Amino acid sequence: MSSSQADVVVIGAGAAGLFAAIHAARRGRDVLLLDGAKKVGTKILVAGGGRCNVTHHEVTERDYHASSKPVVRNVLRSYTVQDTIDFFKREGVFLKQEATGKLFPTTNRARTVLDALLHAAEQSGVRLEHPRRVLEAIRTEAGFELQTESTSVQAQRIILATGGRALPKSGSDGLGYTIAESFGHTTSDRIFPALVPLVLPGGHAFREVAGVALPASLTVVARSGKRLAYTEGDLLLTHFGISGPAALDVSHAWRDAFEDDHEVRVLANLCPTQSIEETDASIRNAGGRTIQAWLRDFFPDRLAAAILDLSEAPGQTTCAQLTKSQRLAVRTYMHEAPLRFEGDRGWHHAEVTMGGVPLSEIRWQSMESTVTDGLFLCGEILDVDGRIGGFNFQWAWASGYLAGNSV
Ligand SMILES: Cc1cc2nc3c(=O)[nH]c(=O)nc-3n(C[C@H](O)[C@H](O)[C@H](O)COP(=O)(O)OP(=O)(O)OC[C@H]3O[C@@H](n4cnc5c(N)ncnc54)[C@H](O)[C@@H]3O)c2cc1C
Repeated sequence: MSSSQADVVVIGAGAAGLFAAIHAARRGRDVLLLDGAKKVGTKILVAGGGRCNVTHHEVTERDYHASSKPVVRNVLRSYTVQDTIDFFKREGVFLKQEATGKLFPTTNRARTVLDALLHAAEQSGVRLEHPRRVLEAIRTEAGFELQTESTSVQAQRIILATGGRALPKSGSDGLGYTIAESFGHTTSDRIFPALVPLVLPGGHAFREVAGVALPASLTVVARSGKRLAYTEGDLLLTHFGISGPAALDVSHAWRDAFEDDHEVRVLANLCPTQSIEETDASIRNAGGRTIQAWLRDFFPDRLAAAILDLSEAPGQTTCAQLTKSQRLAVRTYMHEAPLRFEGDRGWHHAEVTMGGVPLSEIRWQSMESTVTDGLFLCGEILDVDGRIGGFNFQWAWASGYLAGNSV
């Protein structure tokens, strides 16, 4: 078995690992960056539908689920959105802000972002080797010894940037948690897919409406009636259930609650531009129009049919002839459609991971482990996940910067 060495070995060449490696090398460290994947940067390339939503114009700790919001706030303040914009500008990547507040490269190509990162790594002297999966790492007197399939590597310090478990085909399969645990770290009890589409039971009328997208608001409500989360955004109805930004954004709250409460439901408001009272008055005033024709003013034909189906209201009935319970059912399915899900679409369809190594086990100033000296952690392996909109990359850039700059 051959052996190599470096001051710093970064495990994982995703967004956080690349950023950490670049900043460590720029401080004069001899950096070896190892990644288990044949193709590095898969997640950067698929992000934002291939356009890579690099960050968001305004990022605060409120945009994240995390085991410590103050730690998230401190990390984000240490490397701001402006720092991200400036970094990419220096590397020749100009970011433009869209109406939603999301920032994308002006090229609209994620490849531009990945190429800039790989170029910056190369220019700063980072040695990137892949596919080279780290199977285990141990503490030695001089630092660390890492085992890959065919080699061992000695390092004074290591940065664990192995991501979570989302999109395992990209190389993030959860082995990083085992490595962290081998150094005495814990991981959250709940490590689940997040930013993930949700699955409705077979036969649900909304599954027949696959392909319809519409602006909506979604509220996650516990069995007790407590409101757990609320979001507004585009909703996509699919052959299995719901997807699109609004669905992904409530998936964390839904999945977390579902673990203890199978009665947790999502109330979908499919007509958020008017109130339920306005809808009620509008039906009452529609007199001789059929309820089907009336619904078609608001929705595509297939969705109108699904709402009628769920409301058990015959489409040819005029609005004047609707019974009170039929009218109430129609307005309910328009404004508070109660959706109970069977589950989520799983790791292969998730964008991020809920849970990870608790933030209480790192010193945020440096991202160094409080459990093992010389071990640093950054990115999605930590118990932080953001909402849709560039927040997860901003966490990766900021935490990767701090780790690389401190190591
Ligand atoms: C489809 C999709 C779209 C997304 N779109 C966006 C977006 O537009 N904006 C946004 O902000 N976020 C987006 N995200 C989330 C974002 O991509 C992640 O939060 C971010 O990439 C996490 O970075 P990371 O470096 O911590 O982990 P990862 O990107 O997962 O990188 C971890 C790396 O570690 C390597 N690795 C793992 N274990 C080992 C090991 N044992 N040895 C060696 N290497 C190992 C993996 O091969 C991988 O390359 C998206 C995610 C997905 C899946």
